[in-house]
Amino acid sequence: MQWEQLTSSDFAAAVLETGVCLLAAGVLEKHSEHLPLGTDFLNGHKIACLAAERESAVVFPPFYFGQIYEARCFPGALTIKPALLLELFQAVLEEIGRNGFKKVIIYNAHGGNTYLLRFLAQASLWEEQSYTLYVYTGELSGEGEKAWQSTVETRLHGHACECETSISLANHAGLVKMERVPAQPAEPLKRLDGVPHSFTGINWYSNYPDHYAGDARSASVAKGRKLREIQVQELAAFIAAVKADQVAPSLNREFFERARQVG
Ligand SMILES: [Zn+2]
Repeated sequence: MQWEQLTSSDFAAAVLETGVCLLAAGVLEKHSEHLPLGTDFLNGHKIACLAAERESAVVFPPFYFGQIYEARCFPGALTIKPALLLELFQAVLEEIGRNGFKKVIIYNAHGGNTYLLRFLAQASLWEEQSYTLYVYTGELSGEGEKAWQSTVETRLHGHACECETSISLANHAGLVKMERVPAQPAEPLKRLDGVPHSFTGINWYSNYPDHYAGDARSASVAKGRKLREIQVQELAAFIAAVKADQVAPSLNREFFERARQVG
């Protein structure tokens, strides 16, 4: 069920029926020369909708504010300043909670959000919330990973690569410009290898200055359908696990009860 497609009273019934809101966190950023800026939120939202058809949940409307400072040197990237970004996520979650959802899943559909979303989950312990937040990292199960590896042909993946391009072809072929796929694959340039074990803001850019990581030349609709199916299946299983989970909500209650007794 898509939030924006429901009437107000049908929405209230959907909150009671599912108890879970699913937000796919994407972004607006360059995806090499051949994929649209909205690739992550378009694919993320599509996969969320397909998964919610199998394991019912209310899918939040397409969401494209995220961490993408490393793409601001390319036209079309859109983000907001760091503190506001965190507050925006928190305010949106608060509204989702105010509408009655006791569980919220954020499905991370953009690699650049990895640390932000984990921090957002950690920050939920700052103050007691009316909902429990689960961040779905998108990491595949052993079986999913095996199926994934048997579908792809290239070795290096990451951004606008064989996988992402294939899934984009399956989801919105009309927006994919295969004729513009770069002639050469994008391998990491390793320009910061002189400072091992470091994390700098410019790390990703240091490896991939054209915002392309991998080799999309062998991307196809058929592969995209297979890869998308794996993602949908795994996300649906995650939604089911979240629905069944009583541990995180009860530990949250226990934690805040103890926190109130401190001092
Ligand atoms: Zn992407």
